[in-house]
Amino acid sequence: MFDYHIHPNYSIDADGSIDDFCLAAITKGVKEIAFTTHLDTDRKTEDCIVRVKDEIIDVRSKVWIEDYEDAIRTAADKYRNENLVVLLGVELDIYPRVIESLPEGFLDVEWDLIIGSVHLIDHQAISLKNEAESIFSKYSVEELGEKYFSILLDTIETSVINILGHLDLYRRFGEDFYGFQIHELWRPHIDELADRMKKYNVGFEINTSSWRKGQQEPLPSTDFIKALVNRGVKTITVGSDAHTPNDVGADVDRALNLLWSSCGVQPSRFQKGKKVINR
Ligand SMILES: [Zn+2]
Ligand SMILES: [Zn+2]
Repeated sequence: MFDYHIHPNYSIDADGSIDDFCLAAITKGVKEIAFTTHLDTDRKTEDCIVRVKDEIIDVRSKVWIEDYEDAIRTAADKYRNENLVVLLGVELDIYPRVIESLPEGFLDVEWDLIIGSVHLIDHQAISLKNEAESIFSKYSVEELGEKYFSILLDTIETSVINILGHLDLYRRFGEDFYGFQIHELWRPHIDELADRMKKYNVGFEINTSSWRKGQQEPLPSTDFIKALVNRGVKTITVGSDAHTPNDVGADVDRALNLLWSSCGVQPSRFQKGKKVINR
């Protein structure tokens, strides 16, 4: 089992050190993990910070990336003998022109995995109830789709990200506002999205966190997963989006079973930003 989406306490909304997560992974029989600390750079939000040794610092500071890389490489060496592979990743919050706001030295780091996720529309978070409602009140479901998928399409072209994170996160609060239509939001965009992903070698993850929040489907939904696979997108990782060591590996087996039974596809492994193999 592996888990390619984990937030250690560098993310201010997460608990547990790198060691805590590695030990939890070993206990649960997880063989490979990727740490993917949030990297939010939109200055119009208050989230452009990370925690380093109990100090809150600006994400643009090179200091945190150096500390983070060092801590993860140290853990990778330390736990290799215990059959745990530890990867250096990041979850980049993507929005229009994000690439111009990356921290100094970001692109020089040998990341194993860069997840790109849309959390923000117009500088507000679709993952927070109040902010999501404020966004939704401005747009029809079609307009929301246009906005959301144009951010994805533009970012894929920058060749910075490897994997798209929780592709239909807008579902979380969208159903209450738009009803069932929210589940169809992706359909008009699927051909263009799949073409762009294949052209730039970008895959997507199955994020299992929605199951822990009581939803029926992972992110993205089974129909969305099948539509991408049917169009030839077969680079797929699985991640729990754990913000606490207890959630490491949560429902990963369930996602792998779904991927195999619905699509006949095995997940992908990454190293140094390159897909190394489909398992
Ligand atoms: Zn996310
Ligand atoms: Zn995350």
